[in-house]
Amino acid sequence: MTEEIETRIQKMDRSSLRREDFFKAAEILRNGGLVAFPTETVYGLGGNALDTGAAARIYAAKGRPSDNPLIVHIADREAVVRLASEVPEEAWKLAERFWPGPLTIILKKSELVPDGTTGGLSTVAIRMPSDEIAVALIRESGLYIAAPSANASGRPSTTRAEHVYQDLAGRIPLILDGGPVNIGLESTIIDLTAGVPMILRPGYISMEQLQDVLPNAVYDRAAVSRTADSGIVAKAPGMKYRHYAPKGKLIIYEGDQESVVRAINEETKKQCADGRRVAVLAAEETRECYICENVKSAGSRRDEETIAANLFELLREFDEEGAELIYSESFETVQLGQAIMNRLLKAAGYHIVRV
Ligand code: AMP
Ligand code: MG
Repeated sequence: MTEEIETRIQKMDRSSLRREDFFKAAEILRNGGLVAFPTETVYGLGGNALDTGAAARIYAAKGRPSDNPLIVHIADREAVVRLASEVPEEAWKLAERFWPGPLTIILKKSELVPDGTTGGLSTVAIRMPSDEIAVALIRESGLYIAAPSANASGRPSTTRAEHVYQDLAGRIPLILDGGPVNIGLESTIIDLTAGVPMILRPGYISMEQLQDVLPNAVYDRAAVSRTADSGIVAKAPGMKYRHYAPKGKLIIYEGDQESVVRAINEETKKQCADGRRVAVLAAEETRECYICENVKSAGSRRDEETIAANLFELLREFDEEGAELIYSESFETVQLGQAIMNRLLKAAGYHIVRV
């Protein structure tokens, strides 16, 4: 057990960010400590990417398995040349189009990057975030910042500073509070070391968008699998763990809308009669169809951005309310839906009921 420390939350005013606002955080990072900060995707738990000790503290604070590598956040292109030993033309094309933004690129790592940051892999994951607080923190610290999502390992990623506090209070000294994040799902990850450009994790940047730049980009099968198929080994180490999970048991119902509603209502009736605390995760269009007392709408099926932004927060709300069983509708898997279903399936441990 590590010793408890006091966790301070520093409110950031996005309309008037000043250099001074980052002095304390930058100092902590330069001394090998950890700072949680907002990015456009989710909150990150940052440490100096070139300091093995900082990486070790990130793993300890999250309770994260140390073979699960960290994404290195940068603020300028030159950093890529320092962090990677080889930079293929494809990387520059992707950077040109999608950086700063929610795309993580995997390249062969240079000597500079310690094994502690890459979980022992010979590759390194690099991203240039667009969130102005993230960018200013990287600039002010003068570091490359390794940052996984700022949640306790296995729990839903954090989209607000309050969530970070729930998971990491007592373990880190500082959280920069920039309010709710924009996107709400982690970055798309693409691996450029595997022969063909391979998408290891779906995210806000869709396959269609990536193929527009690199027509031969493909999904890693594990990234879009609908089963916990043991024959498929995830290439992003983090994708093999049960992840994003609420404390209650989450089950996804799939089928035509009417059958899904009927099946969830039947199950709700049965479980409530047994005294279990049941909740339902639905789309706005169907929320009124459920008999359950606790129905949450993730948003309209026509507005996937809202569903993405709400998903992790709703999973956390179910926890706070003590939901023991959570029945969820399933969502379309085109474009952003691909990422939404990927996270939902992992949160459910791939537990799907087809009706
Ligand atoms: P998080 O920032 O918490 O979303 O976790 C980072 C994700 O990036 C995890 O799923 C890691 O497995 C993945 N990742 C980081 N570095 C690499 C790498 N070198 N190769 C493959 N996946 C990586
Ligand atoms: Mg994570």
